[in-house]
Amino acid sequence: MEGVVKTCSKCGAEKSINEFETDNRQKSGKGSNCLECKRERGRAYAASNKERMKEYKRLYRLNSENREKINKAERERLKKPVSARKRKESRSKYLQTEKGMATIVRNRLNWYENNPQKRIRYYRLGSQSLSDWYIRQLLLNQDYPKELVNNEDFIEVKRLIIKTKRLCKTLVNCEQV
Ligand SMILES: [Zn+2]
Repeated sequence: MEGVVKTCSKCGAEKSINEFETDNRQKSGKGSNCLECKRERGRAYAASNKERMKEYKRLYRLNSENREKINKAERERLKKPVSARKRKESRSKYLQTEKGMATIVRNRLNWYENNPQKRIRYYRLGSQSLSDWYIRQLLLNQDYPKELVNNEDFIEVKRLIIKTKRLCKTLVNCEQV
């Protein structure tokens, strides 16, 4: 591509092909305008949009200034919790799919390989505190169905079972207390 020259259809300047905008619809992969003209186009678009938005806002305030204030505050209030909840929902839905489950397993195996020392420490810490992470690992290792591995209530139940088992052990084996 080096050394190839092209004429910009907008400003008429002859420039190196590297100074032209990318356009994958074209066979050459380059558009008909140079990068400088492309930037100019972007600036003009932003400027005209800004004016339009300004005008729109002005008319809106003119009609119902108070309502706009209330609506805006309401939107801000609703924005964050809703998007956070939706993100969580779509993630947990994804994790229940075959693809999501495969991703978990793949990430887990990669992590094991890359962090052998951390793995041992995490396991020890997780085993002490019975963290969700640790219980999930146990369930995955014991081939529980994915619905249960991702079920918070089931994890809680499993945690209670482990606690109970440990407690029983300490009651029978006094030297472990
Ligand atoms: Zn140009």
